[in-house]
Amino acid sequence: MKIKINRPFDLHVHLRDGKMLERMVKHTSAHFGHALVMPNTTKPILTAEDAQEYKREICRIAALENLPHFTPLMTIKLVASTTPEIVRQASKAGVIAGKLYPEGVTTNSADGVSNFESLYPVFEAMQECDMVLCLHGEVPGVFVLDREAAFLKTLIDISRAFPNLRIVLEHVTTEEAVETVRLLPYNVSATITVHHLFTTLDDVIGGMLRPHLFCKPVAKTEGDRKALIGAAIGDSMRFFLGTDSAPHLVGKKECSSGCAGVFTAPVAMACLAEIFEQYGALERLQGFTSTFGRVFYRLPPGPGTLELVKEPWVVPAEYDGVVPFRAGETLPWKVL
Ligand SMILES: [Zn+2]
Repeated sequence: MKIKINRPFDLHVHLRDGKMLERMVKHTSAHFGHALVMPNTTKPILTAEDAQEYKREICRIAALENLPHFTPLMTIKLVASTTPEIVRQASKAGVIAGKLYPEGVTTNSADGVSNFESLYPVFEAMQECDMVLCLHGEVPGVFVLDREAAFLKTLIDISRAFPNLRIVLEHVTTEEAVETVRLLPYNVSATITVHHLFTTLDDVIGGMLRPHLFCKPVAKTEGDRKALIGAAIGDSMRFFLGTDSAPHLVGKKECSSGCAGVFTAPVAMACLAEIFEQYGALERLQGFTSTFGRVFYRLPPGPGTLELVKEPWVVPAEYDGVVPFRAGETLPWKVL
């Protein structure tokens, strides 16, 4: 059995910088035609110039890997010092989204934002430029399982204050977040990762500690996972793929202070085919992975197609020093 879909978009990925970037571009660009690249690199992407330089570097690596069809879609990180002028210049330079991390909530977010209203002039400029606002929706300091729910009021406030600003609540993990997005106007959408469709907190800490499943936001309950699956395979265009594939070298995961992030890039499409088939929804895989997000971001269709075949393969233990999601497991679907 084979399926062919329009080449997918990954609307949330971490490609990192330096040596890691050189290793990671191929894992995303092998399957995805476009990817929205997150700006929380060691030296953050804050301005038009930063984004242009980062894009050139990604394209240079993709060309070396003979994957020139790949288009990185650029973001800037919104921090307390971001100004409306920075947004306008970034938009002119082709940056399509600004990513906002609450202070200290995940990898490289110590410079994140603690007072959202102070950024309202920046949101105003984004609305004018038609730049998308991507939100890491968690409130730091709140009990870890309640952080996403605690953020939803802020999401509602921003969406009401800026009715024409397109907003993406990134990597939703709770039923409450799914229901909130459904009830908000059409300027609000959400991304769903692959790993949150497969795991609950029990998989992370319920038995042995599995550091390669540890991420922010952490996976929640089985009820939450079912709600995410319902949103992914459903017919609402509000929910689309953002893998949040977030590589860390094995030593940064298997240690006393392990980093948050699940590396899914090489297995994402195979895992999605598996779960969509399990729920009798294979015909909706294309919508979730290549149509809905593209429409929300107002992007042209990706180049060509991606074929998957039902043929078992074993996920390698490591890719370039990073342990992938479902390492060592046999997956039923394979990207051709
Ligand atoms: Zn992320």
